[in-house]
Amino acid sequence: MNITSAKFIKTAVGDDPVFLDGTPQIAFIGRSNVGKSSTINALTKQKGLAIVSASPGRTQGLNVFLINELFYLVDLPGYGFAKLSKQDRAWLHELINWYLFNKKFEQKKIVQIIDANVGPTKDDLELLQTLEQHNKNILVIANKIDKIKKSQYAVQCQKIKDLIGYHEIIFYSSKTGTGIPEIINKILC
Ligand code: GDP
Repeated sequence: MNITSAKFIKTAVGDDPVFLDGTPQIAFIGRSNVGKSSTINALTKQKGLAIVSASPGRTQGLNVFLINELFYLVDLPGYGFAKLSKQDRAWLHELINWYLFNKKFEQKKIVQIIDANVGPTKDDLELLQTLEQHNKNILVIANKIDKIKKSQYAVQCQKIKDLIGYHEIIFYSSKTGTGIPEIINKILC
């Protein structure tokens, strides 16, 4: 299976009927600057589909894409961007929680992207724990493996596995393309 079509549907904020139209939803979430937009572009082979941002923390809504006319890929705003005002951060937090933990909405899968070179941050692990508490179906993608020093690769991967626990992790680089087929298999199955 492959991703053969991907189109932007809308930026949704608040109670939007798009989330209730019966189309399965796969949510992509990650810390700001983790490479979420690059990942969406790499998976869909569309360079400009999600904007690769020079100024992190820009997304102010949930971007909904229709993939293979089959499911929605829901791109959530990046969290943990220190330079945002307290008010903007609170708004993003509310928006993310509203979509992920609102009983009205159901995600087939939640793809959490982390930075493999940095390792999971406190924010990443807190979100993962909350997702677990809500029994979400989670796939962790550890992006930017190209940035890990070769001599540190095995140690760093093990460190990530230990922190992430029982969840499946795909080690990946949107820059080199390593891991893309595995991610596509996981999200299309
Ligand atoms: P977002 O804020 O999570 O959407 O992150 P972006 O996709 O905008 O990427 C943030 C920065 O990380 C950009 O400068 C990207 O070029 C860079 N980046 C994304 N993925 C990778 C990767 O796999 N390897 C490396 N070296 N850089 C990456």
